[in-house]
Amino acid sequence: MILRLTELKLPFFILVIGSTILILKELSTLFFSIQMRNRLMKPIERLRYAVDEISRGHYGYQVEEDSLSMVGDLIASFNKMSCDLKEANDMKEKYELNRKELIAGISHDLKTPITSIVGYVDAIQTGVANTQDKKEKYLNIIESNAQYTNKLIDDLFLFSKLDINQMKYDFIELPICDFLSDVIVEKQLELEENGVEISYDIQISPKRMLPIDGKMVYRIVSNILSNAVKYGDKEHPIILIEAVDEADGIKVQISDNGKGISKDDLHQIFDVFYRADESRNKEIGGTGLGLAIAKQLVEAHGGTITATSVVGVGTTICFTLKEKTHKEENHG
Ligand code: ATP
Ligand code: MG
Repeated sequence: MILRLTELKLPFFILVIGSTILILKELSTLFFSIQMRNRLMKPIERLRYAVDEISRGHYGYQVEEDSLSMVGDLIASFNKMSCDLKEANDMKEKYELNRKELIAGISHDLKTPITSIVGYVDAIQTGVANTQDKKEKYLNIIESNAQYTNKLIDDLFLFSKLDINQMKYDFIELPICDFLSDVIVEKQLELEENGVEISYDIQISPKRMLPIDGKMVYRIVSNILSNAVKYGDKEHPIILIEAVDEADGIKVQISDNGKGISKDDLHQIFDVFYRADESRNKEIGGTGLGLAIAKQLVEAHGGTITATSVVGVGTTICFTLKEKTHKEENHG
């Protein structure tokens, strides 16, 4: 049986209160569901859309942050993750591009001398080189191209080992002042024979010990010095080597009075295969690997390498070697 409230003869105010409570309850339910929709469902919907965007490869997609949202922390974490994903993806793309450029560089640099060798061998075999003079000239060209190819392959082999961290270093604590002096004296003889004046100023404590791979540090210095000689354009080429102690290692600076490097080229000279002024440098010869190798080796010793230069005046290459090598730094 259905009883109507009026028939219960309840006092009027109880009826009003009862109805008000019912209305309020309905209203609060409505308010709550609106709040839930705006503060929870809508942000979650935006998050779901963002996840779809990311799965479509739109890395870095950001969800609008709203201070009233009940999932603000989740949105902030999502946005951060999205940024991290974009960064990782950009790195991967850059790495892949580098690989492609490297392969293109290797193919180009190997093809040129080999094509030349094949051409001159053919000229000798078919009798185009019909005099002893011509034959000798062609054989010299073949020899220099073969040597270039050999150096390129050696450098490439070393560089790729460094690049994929497959290089086995032989770090030994050595008195770095003596070591550097020995390297410089050895190089001094070689350079002076080629008419290059070399002076040095080593301000390193004789007791200073550093963990170095001697062969590799020799290689760093050689690569820098060979550039200082190769790209010298003055009548009296001069090289100055300075070395000083630093709190956590040493700093070595090698300056020349050569032709210098333009601002545009300067930041790229440590890149693999980069050769400034490629057309004019062709006769000088080189693979564009020397400084890329030096950089990898310096970094393995925990150091950094930088260059400053003034066109027409000269170039200074500065590198550091640290008490903690790269490996020690990474493994604590
Ligand atoms: P490689 O050393 O492999 O035989 P490379 O000398 O061309 O070849 P890097 O030593 O890596 O290669 O040098 C890169 C480029 O930087 C050179 O081609 C040259 O243009 C420029 N460069 C390096 N050192 C000097 C310098 N001291 N003076 C002028 N230019 C330099
Ligand atoms: Mg070089």
